[in-house]
Order: sequence, then C-alpha cells, then structure tokens
Amino acid sequence: MKKECCETKPSTIAIDGPAASGKSTIGAIVADRLAYVWLDTGIMYRAVACEALETGVSIDDEKAVTQLAEKLDVDVLPATVNDGRQFDVLINNKDRTWEIRSNEVNGSVSEVSVYPGVRVAMTELQRKIASKGDIVVLGRDIGTVVLPNADLKIYLDASIEVRAQRRLLEELARANQLDLQKTIEMLRHRDVIDSSREHAPLKAADDAILINTDNLTIDEVVDKILKIVQNWTKKEAN
Ligand code: C5P
Repeated sequence: MKKECCETKPSTIAIDGPAASGKSTIGAIVADRLAYVWLDTGIMYRAVACEALETGVSIDDEKAVTQLAEKLDVDVLPATVNDGRQFDVLINNKDRTWEIRSNEVNGSVSEVSVYPGVRVAMTELQRKIASKGDIVVLGRDIGTVVLPNADLKIYLDASIEVRAQRRLLEELARANQLDLQKTIEMLRHRDVIDSSREHAPLKAADDAILINTDNLTIDEVVDKILKIVQNWTKKEAN
C-alpha cells in the first residue's frame, strides 16, 4: 500500500572527517542545494582557541579555557566585507573571521578541543541548533557523539598529502607563507590529537557512509552526497 506521507529526505545530515578533507566547502554547497542550514562545528572550537589567545588565557589552563567556552558567544553571519570571506564570524560581537584561521589558532585548537568541559559546552549548543532539523552539521564527532541519531552520516577522508596540498593552496591564496612539509606536519599534529583523545575522538560512526575524496573534485563529492540524499529512505525504528 502506498504511504500517504513519508519522510523522503534526511533532515539531519552529519559530515565528519579530518582536517582539510573538504568538509567545510562540500558541506556548505550540499546545505545550499538542499536549502538547509549549515553548522561548521570546527568554527566553534576555533573560536574557543582564538578567544583564549586574544584574551591571554593560557591554552594549558583547562579550567580557564572551559570557563571561557561556557560563556562564549559565536555568530556566523552573511559576509559584510568583500575580502574573500564566505561569511563573518563574530566572537563576543567582534569580527574574528580571519583570526580563527591563523597559524596560532591552527596550532592550539586541537589542544582546547581535548578538554571535556569545552566539549560538553560545544556539544550542548550544537544539539540545540541541530534540533530544528533540515541541517548539515560538520565536525569530527557529529555522527558518533553529537547526533548519534542523525538521519544520514557521511565520513569524508583523504590522504594526508592530498589534504596538505589543498590546505596549502588555501593558505597561499590568502598570502600566508607556508610550505608543503610544514602543512603536512601541522595536519598530522592535529590528526594525532583529534583521533587519540579520550572524549569524542575523530572517527567514522559505524553507520557512516565513507567517501574517499583523494581523486574526486568538489563537484563530484557534492554529486555523490546529493545522490545518497536522493536515494535515502527513513529506516523504521525497531
Ligand atoms: O574542522 P576544523 O579544521 O575547522 O576544526 C578545527 C579543530 O576543531 C579540529 O582539529 C578539532 O580539534 C576541533 N573539532 C573537534 N570537534 C568537532 C569539530 C572540530 O574537536 N566536532
């Protein structure tokens, strides 16, 4: 019998994967095509590290960093400046769009992301935002911890060489001086901390669909995900 009404699209889509696997770019396009909201949780952890650095809170001071995270106000809004940015990132009402991408933040974001109190504060906020549905959420632990019941889970991966090459191109486009070897080292440093931490480590959920993006263009990955979305059917709860 034909169902009168059924869910034909996944309302919550989790996209996880390591640094520079293409999550942010691809997630934003997928969300746009589906007319969904988009939440890049990496921005929230970057905001914690950025604010600690800006206000002189030591990255090693777990208690102070956690208190800062609990009070942090982060907004992602349409871009108001024409300088290559995709959007504005406001931290406690100050424009920190580029600061959250600095080498200093890249070098300390994984350290603050290890703190359980920071993760609890960020996870609560992420769940609240995602509860409205029709959303693409990007991160490291979305399918495993933040939204274990997400309708669809994708895990994007790529080799460290390919990821470093992509990250390097982004940095050079912003006139940041970096070389391939240094980029590989920075990514490897974050990979190790992100995957080995005790709480919510980077890993694919058992029910995630894995996509290796090594030999795929952005458009090809987007197409793959949109096909998966099209063919998605809601699993009945047991
Ligand atoms: O995705 P992006 O590279 O911007 O993330 C920056 C950092 O934030 C990651 O290396 C990781 O340490 C942390 N992060 C996390 N959990 C998430 C998203 C990001 O620990 N859900």
